[in-house]
Amino acid sequence: MTFDTETAPKDFLLAVEGLTVSFDGFKAVNDLSFYVDENEIRVIIGPNGAGKTTVLDLICGRTRATSGSIRFRGKELTTMKEHQIVHAGVGRKFQNPSIYEDLTVFENLELSFPRGKTVWGSLAFRRDREVIDRVEEIAEMIFLKDHLDTEAAILSHGQKQWLEIGMLLIQKPDLLMLDEPVAGMSVAERVKTAELLNTIIKQHSVIVIEHDMKFVEDIAHRVTVLHQGKVLSEGSMDHVQHDPKVVEVYLGH
Ligand code: ADP
Ligand code: MG
Repeated sequence: MTFDTETAPKDFLLAVEGLTVSFDGFKAVNDLSFYVDENEIRVIIGPNGAGKTTVLDLICGRTRATSGSIRFRGKELTTMKEHQIVHAGVGRKFQNPSIYEDLTVFENLELSFPRGKTVWGSLAFRRDREVIDRVEEIAEMIFLKDHLDTEAAILSHGQKQWLEIGMLLIQKPDLLMLDEPVAGMSVAERVKTAELLNTIIKQHSVIVIEHDMKFVEDIAHRVTVLHQGKVLSEGSMDHVQHDPKVVEVYLGH
């Protein structure tokens, strides 16, 4: 077989093609295609009910696709189980933080540190230097270095969100997916979250669902606008903001 570099498809980190999910005949995601590059921050925006959360559910295997494909580094995800998708390098943060409130910041991060899957692996596990160093490195990134011994329950809402991002980062996912990470955050916390995402992008790719346009402007490399389960517009923030189709959908709401 000959390989024509001119027409060969580019190697995307994530390639979603013809993705459809039907809930009792209603297509929440309808023949959707989009592509994410390595080290890209992609923001997905769109009106309520556009299918944004469902797209993340499909990518992480929580919801099964009716048809279409999701390839991650060339591997087909639609036939994989949730834990296999995590293992393949896809981390997902849900809207409500799932941290252990009665444990400290250190303990929450330590628990998320990837260990050997064998019983022996967990028995042999110690608070060794490697773990401590990694926990401290992540704590610094998520602005919680001075709160390692703080019980998670007394953190602010924003700090809890950062802790959960840290719990994903410690597992070194290649692709991190965040659903409305700055909802309920103060302006100062939003600015710091943008800073955090701009730091982690050096080692990870990120898909973020977000409504806050100032935040989107601060982080997005490219924006995908979803409407009725389809791509309405895609490109730079500037491009989508001035796209008449996007203006119409947003003004119509
Ligand atoms: P968004 O995150 O863009 O606000 P969602 O992806 O949550 O939108 O939902 C898209 C549409 O799909 C909505 O109309 C929602 O009611 C519907 N939907 C989502 N999940 C399910 C489900 N498990 N069963 C039936 N309908 C669903
Ligand atoms: Mg949603």
